[in-house]
Amino acid sequence: MTKESEKHSENNVNAGQAQLRQSLRSQWLMLALALAILAGVFAYFSFTARRDITKQEQSRLQTQARVISLNIENQLDAANLALNSVINDLTYLREDEKIKSTNRRLQALADAMSGVRTMLVLDRNGTVTASSREEFVGMDFSRRDYYRMPLEQSDSTLLYVSPPFKSVLGPIILNLSRIIPAANGAFDGVVVAALDPEYFQVLLSSVLYAPDMWSTINHGDGIRFMMVPDQKEQAGRNLALPGTFFTRHRDSGRVESVLTGKSPSYDSERVTALHTVQPQKLLLHKPLYVACSRDHAAIYENWLSNTLKQAFVFALICMAAGTGLLLLQRRQMGLALLAARNRELASMRLNLIEYALTHDLQELLKQALDEVCRLSDSPIGFYHFVESDQRALSLQAWSTRTLDEFCTAKGHGLHYPIENAGVWADCIRQRRPLIHNDYASLPNKKGLPEGHAPVIRELAVPILRAERVVAILGVGNKPADYTDQDIELVTYLADVVWEITERKRSEEERHQLNISLQESHRLLADIYDFLPDATFVVDLEKKVIAWNRAVVEMSGITKEEMLGQGDHAYTIPFYGERRDVLLDLIDTDDDELAAKYQGVTRRGDRLYAESFCPALYNGKGAHIWAIVAPLYGADGNRIGTIESIRDITAIKEAEANLARSNQELEQFAYVASHDLQEPLRKIAGFTELLANRYKGTFDEKGDSYMAYIVDGAMRMRSLINDLLGYSRVMRSTKELAETDCSAVISRVLRDMEPTIKGSSAEIVCGQLPLIHADQSQLGQLFQNLIGNAIKYRGNAPPKVVINARRLDNDWLFSVTDNGIGIAPEFYERIFAIFQRLHTRAEYPGTGIGLAICQKIVERHGGKIWVESTVETGTTFFFTIPVIPKDQEMTR
Ligand code: ADP
Repeated sequence: MTKESEKHSENNVNAGQAQLRQSLRSQWLMLALALAILAGVFAYFSFTARRDITKQEQSRLQTQARVISLNIENQLDAANLALNSVINDLTYLREDEKIKSTNRRLQALADAMSGVRTMLVLDRNGTVTASSREEFVGMDFSRRDYYRMPLEQSDSTLLYVSPPFKSVLGPIILNLSRIIPAANGAFDGVVVAALDPEYFQVLLSSVLYAPDMWSTINHGDGIRFMMVPDQKEQAGRNLALPGTFFTRHRDSGRVESVLTGKSPSYDSERVTALHTVQPQKLLLHKPLYVACSRDHAAIYENWLSNTLKQAFVFALICMAAGTGLLLLQRRQMGLALLAARNRELASMRLNLIEYALTHDLQELLKQALDEVCRLSDSPIGFYHFVESDQRALSLQAWSTRTLDEFCTAKGHGLHYPIENAGVWADCIRQRRPLIHNDYASLPNKKGLPEGHAPVIRELAVPILRAERVVAILGVGNKPADYTDQDIELVTYLADVVWEITERKRSEEERHQLNISLQESHRLLADIYDFLPDATFVVDLEKKVIAWNRAVVEMSGITKEEMLGQGDHAYTIPFYGERRDVLLDLIDTDDDELAAKYQGVTRRGDRLYAESFCPALYNGKGAHIWAIVAPLYGADGNRIGTIESIRDITAIKEAEANLARSNQELEQFAYVASHDLQEPLRKIAGFTELLANRYKGTFDEKGDSYMAYIVDGAMRMRSLINDLLGYSRVMRSTKELAETDCSAVISRVLRDMEPTIKGSSAEIVCGQLPLIHADQSQLGQLFQNLIGNAIKYRGNAPPKVVINARRLDNDWLFSVTDNGIGIAPEFYERIFAIFQRLHTRAEYPGTGIGLAICQKIVERHGGKIWVESTVETGTTFFFTIPVIPKDQEMTR
């Protein structure tokens, strides 16, 4: 990877991380906002609940206070009426002076009013003159407020309410009094109604609806008349102090008020409804104040517990949401990391592919390993191919750091047997990734090469393709232990590296192949340019794709002129026109072929022909011998046709000369042998006569000379006869006719019977064919061969085997004997005329038999040759063409 691209990808990663952080932060903000809204909703409901409770409680307390006030008003009203009626009736009562009846009247009034306990009448001196309780009559109450206040104020319209005081009977009570006016309007005593504390106690109790609640009645001066539940220190207490609820209410001038908080008169915080009792129809000298109060904490106890519960639920929601978001973000971060990693891997892959374009396989592998090492945090990295036999590794590459810091071991391209490799190759044997986190403690490691720094831990991964390990990639010495995640990463990277190197490898192979291909092309062009025979090639469209130097020389047409030309352009230099030549006939069947081209033969898929090309050599013309063959591509498909042409003009001329001289020679031999016969016959005849007639006339020497002459003449005669026979073979004009070889053999054997019997020879003859032959020459051929086989026999009785078998277009005959054999150096010579390997004394003969055999075979269109093993036996082979099918049919 280049520095810039590395930096680029790093920047991308940083930008991505910043973006992620930003999004995570905004998620927290959103959550906080949502929780704040939820908290707001909770707070709102809690607040309204509290407000409702407050309102409800205040109005309830006010109602209770109102109930008490109303009740007191009624009691005051009733008491006032009673007091007035007593004042009105008092003149009569006094006049009556029947104290007892007054007392009874007062008692009846007091009994009638539930809120009044005692009624008194006091004279102007404050002495009780009449009472609902007789025991008070005569008592002096002149110091009591209910006497003193009316006395001092002297307002007979007012209903005086005395401050609470401790009564004679014990409990703190409160008295109502009115002035008894004299006839002149002056003060003449008071009528008093003592309120019944029990009644008011019951009244105050009746309004209590909570254990923490109390209700109270206070005098307008601030003295507490009564408090329920009864609290000792409270009754008689003066509340007219600054800051008390009483003072605040009284000073406000309102009839009703609700006050909350702490008051100097009470320790705890309270909610208190206060009501002023001052009915308009009564002229009260001092109002009364009623209060109903509840403990502040008690009122909100339920609310508080609910609120706490809600707060707890909210806290739970906060925790759950926070934890949820945390987990979600962790997952998000995990996914983002994974995505970043995937992006990094993908960009690494692309970078490597790009790198592969401009670097060779070795550089690519090293670069790839450096990348793998970077990503897996490993200083060591190696990569080796596994050969297809799965037995050897071909060492390929080490990472830069491995070579720089860890390993002096070299050996690129080294073939390393896997069985010799250490634990790092176990992954090949086990065919799975292996981690050795504690390399030092491995029992079966084979040790590292000299100069190799210690391996602390390693991870090696096999790369499998089609069930075979094709390569291994290993990393080592990561600062921490290798984990399954590393396996996953390195396996992925190994696959990627394999894929890229594989591509690179095949690319390099292809490149290499191209260079050889080009070389072999050039070589081929050089070779066919070097060939002496004119050669050209056409493709399937009959366009010329090769035209060698020899054909350029022969035709005078350059490669540039001819290559790519079609439409029979290649025939013009040969025939001066566009026409079918041998090359054009390669695909035609045999019948058409024979009709179109004279003297063409097909052998396999090739055509051979001789022809005369009149346009060659500037119209001089030339005899040519041509061979044509189809050309096939590597896939076996036909790609074109090749034709090779040899100029045989010189050969043709030599052949003609030879034939002519042979003919002349044969003529001479025939004439000579024929004409020599006459004088030779004379010499032989007369020498014989001379020898017979003058036998005994000569001395011994003369006789032997005569014998020599006779013998010489005889030899000459047989030589001349043989020579004549030889020249007759070629001169024969007898037509070849269908001949049964078996019949010919039978005749020959019959003729040779004396020789065969005389030598005890065994003749074995296989099945022989019908052929086209000159019957008498064929007989002579067999006779000569069988005769030689018997003549040149060894020690064993001669055995001669005659056989024939079919080749493609020929019959192959063989005559095999078990005779003395012929050394290989004589295989050619024995067919020459008069050539012998033995003296006449050893074996009689003239040395012309095989020369005649050769002539006969050649005249029949065949060939003759010998194969032999000295002292074992000899086989003479000769071929005769088979009778063509059409002729065989008409037989
Ligand atoms: P001739 O038999 O009259 O000598 P040929 O032309 O028949 O002449 O044979 C030439 C030579 O080839 C012979 O001299 C002989 O040495 C050798 N020859 C021919 N046929 C055989 C045979 N069947 N076994 C061994 N040698 C042979």
